[in-house]
Amino acid sequence: MKTASGVTAITHGTLVDGNGGKPISDAVVVVQDGRITYAGPAAKAPPLQADAHKLDARGGTILPGLVEAHYHATYFNVAALEDLDIKYPVEYVTLLAAANAKLLLECGYTAARSGGSLFNVDVWLKKAIEEDHVPGPRLSASGREICGVGGLMDWNPDYRKIGMEGLVLLVNGADEARAAVRKLVKDGVEWVKTYPTGDAAAPDTNDHHTLCMTFEEMHAVVQTAHNHNLKVTGHCRATEGIKNALKAGYDTIEHGTFMDNEALDLLLKRNTPAVPALYFEYVSVERGKEFGLPQAVIDGHKETLEGGGESARRILKAGGRLGMGGDYGFAWNPHGDYAHELSFFVKHVGLAPLEVLTCATRTGAEIMGREKEFGTLEAGKLADILIVDGDVIANISLLEDRDNFLAVMQGGIVKAGTLTKPQPAAA
Ligand SMILES: [Zn+2]
Repeated sequence: MKTASGVTAITHGTLVDGNGGKPISDAVVVVQDGRITYAGPAAKAPPLQADAHKLDARGGTILPGLVEAHYHATYFNVAALEDLDIKYPVEYVTLLAAANAKLLLECGYTAARSGGSLFNVDVWLKKAIEEDHVPGPRLSASGREICGVGGLMDWNPDYRKIGMEGLVLLVNGADEARAAVRKLVKDGVEWVKTYPTGDAAAPDTNDHHTLCMTFEEMHAVVQTAHNHNLKVTGHCRATEGIKNALKAGYDTIEHGTFMDNEALDLLLKRNTPAVPALYFEYVSVERGKEFGLPQAVIDGHKETLEGGGESARRILKAGGRLGMGGDYGFAWNPHGDYAHELSFFVKHVGLAPLEVLTCATRTGAEIMGREKEFGTLEAGKLADILIVDGDVIANISLLEDRDNFLAVMQGGIVKAGTLTKPQPAAA
């Protein structure tokens, strides 16, 4: 991805640097050739060279670009789970994924970690973004997901004679789990996404208290993936599934819904980040009826919402790490609503806005293993910066509306925001 050349100084804004410290009012961020050379109080800023470009934050908030830590580029706002698989051919889904990636960037997310994609779309989407063919977040790709046969993602009964190979690699036993990871190695993914447990979305056979992979399968996935320097994550709702994942050596836990004390201890001891993705549960409960979700599914999402909220609070209060990501791409949880996750955690889980912003920036970069490159606004880091018109700490909901964004920068280049639109002439 190209970076800017020359010097830009962002002035007249309050700096939230992503490290969780007190915001700095009247701050300056200086960017040289796409990297930050200074971020701090204006009073201590180095003198600017005469030809430096000035970018006025108009008293707004300057923060790191957001990181979506559980992103499905190929989910195209489906109203039914089975539409995730073969509703459209892969050619069309690829185009939709490119549009989703552009939207994510416009919504202030300069980086994202995939939580699974149809076929190998996200690997190639990442390449197109990196080579500046299409706009989008800096991406960590995961390609197809792995699930046990008969598990959450294996919903076509055999008489239909329809496989699931576009969306998931289905495995029986440790050998097949290893074979599936080896396929993904060749595909070029960075993350292996698995399904240790079921979900409220499938109440009959694979609900949120069901296991969908054995410990042996999960352990085989981790051994093989780590051998090839890939990371492993998994959809973990049921308590036993969370423990299996932590004991098997998972690098992150998706959802981490029903944590007991032992699970929490394991998580903290390994400092494994969890990505709750809870707004999806909230909106499934709030709007499920409208979209025809069965009552058993809505009830399951309610239980998940309560359990997940409690676990997220406990993890953060105990010094653990949370990433912010949201399973966007369902009809009631569409692409574009990404920052609803952040407001949700403030309003409904009770976290402080600064805590949530640290989760959504620094921790997101840590999950991607790229915290040395971005995630905070500090000298030496890439200038992936979001400038918001208004006080984000006082009102985190400002992030929900991209019309509030003055600029979304990647490597010092303004990619989106109102400053990219023609400005009215000065009177
Ligand atoms: Zn997901």
